[in-house]
Amino acid sequence: MKKILISGASIAGPALAWWLSHYGFDVTIIERSPELRTGGYKIDLRGAAVEVIKKMGLYEKVRDEQVGMTGADFVNNKGKKLAQLPANLIGLRQNDDVELMRGDLSRILYENTNSTCNYIFNDSVDTIIEHGDRLKVTFKNHEPLVFDLVIGADGIHSHVRSLAFGPESAFRRNLGDYFFAIYSVPNDLRLDCRELFYAKAGRICNLYSTRNSTDAKVLFIFHSPEFQYNYREQSLQKDRIKAIFLDMGWEVPRLLAYMDQAQDFYFDTVQQVHLANWSSGRIALLGDAAWAPSLASGQGSSMAIVGAYVLAGEIFKAQGNHQIAYPSYEAAMRPFIEKNQLLGRHVKQLVPSSNWRLNVQLMMIRLMPYMPMSNLIIKKMQEEVNAAANGIRLLDYEPIISQYR
Ligand SMILES: Cc1cc2nc3c(=O)[nH]c(=O)nc-3n(C[C@H](O)[C@H](O)[C@H](O)COP(=O)(O)OP(=O)(O)OC[C@H]3O[C@@H](n4cnc5c(N)ncnc54)[C@H](O)[C@@H]3O)c2cc1C
Repeated sequence: MKKILISGASIAGPALAWWLSHYGFDVTIIERSPELRTGGYKIDLRGAAVEVIKKMGLYEKVRDEQVGMTGADFVNNKGKKLAQLPANLIGLRQNDDVELMRGDLSRILYENTNSTCNYIFNDSVDTIIEHGDRLKVTFKNHEPLVFDLVIGADGIHSHVRSLAFGPESAFRRNLGDYFFAIYSVPNDLRLDCRELFYAKAGRICNLYSTRNSTDAKVLFIFHSPEFQYNYREQSLQKDRIKAIFLDMGWEVPRLLAYMDQAQDFYFDTVQQVHLANWSSGRIALLGDAAWAPSLASGQGSSMAIVGAYVLAGEIFKAQGNHQIAYPSYEAAMRPFIEKNQLLGRHVKQLVPSSNWRLNVQLMMIRLMPYMPMSNLIIKKMQEEVNAAANGIRLLDYEPIISQYR
């Protein structure tokens, strides 16, 4: 039985592990964090990703975790509502698309793989060395092990990618010096499946509480061209957010005061990852490590789920022969990824650069119900997202199983 190592236990890693163990491979997942990370935003599962989740028999579980948002209110510094949007319009969801918390999706994938795969937490790959026709992997904390294939599903700052392809700077595409942070806060405003947006030029504060949650989440997005960003230095990141948001008014100072005690603080830059190839020898990349689409796409988790399905299917179809499997995986995924990465480029529209633009945006939202053009604009946006989310024809790998069993 071929042995496969996956680095990263978030969305891409456990989804890949599910499919590989389904096909009979021996799977180990290594995760740097001491336990499963449950933080993060609410995310959408759309189109082809929903098809994959249904094939895994997990759709009911995922649907049970729907966040049930009813909509968003845009407020001023006194908390007065200036405009509102219904939930489905913000997410542009259609048909069986589901909105749930990133942490809930990760937990569902973990719970459905931890009895069939070997999870190792609190460790990281150190080196990967060719070892005959296999790979010898050394770890920071464990004894070395030998694998047939290694998959880097360790996110936008992937360590496996840096070992196989070189430093991150060569693959990073900056989308204009935008950053975001998210963490849990007490639900002091007693929000019930509702979200609030409070914005000023170059800064957004978004606060919401979802169905079944006792707390709330706060998301800060900001533009900061001069910020020398290091993704490992949390204290620098927190200082920067405080400096940028402290004078903003409304509930912001109180929300900032909760930041230091939050257990799930997550910070990153809004950027994309672009590589000419997603594999090198027996090593391949998956999810954000290969093609991070940026927060603005709303498609990071869906792309990871679809990629996991295709990569596992191609490895199985080629009976573990990476020279056949990896190029087929890339050929099947590349057009889908390019369409979805295009959705993630429009960060500037997300964060208005001046108060004047912000006021125009709010006026447009207020006038929407009365503008004959607005339905057309929304329909066009919906079609664009739908086309990208469904922009791949998934092969059915199940009939191949009977050939090999
Ligand atoms: C805690 C958390 C919160 C997030 N919140 C948001 C959000 O609010 N908005 C948003 O747009 N995206 C967020 N993301 C990113 C989002 O999950 C991804 O864009 C998408 O789901 C694709 O997932 P992925 O599995 O490819 O990568 P990721 O979700 O980034 O997961 C990578 C995993 O690899 C692990 N890892 C990193 N380095 C190593 C290493 N050296 N060895 C072993 N493991 C390693 C990480 O701990 C993580 O579990 C978040 C990710 C995490 C981990």
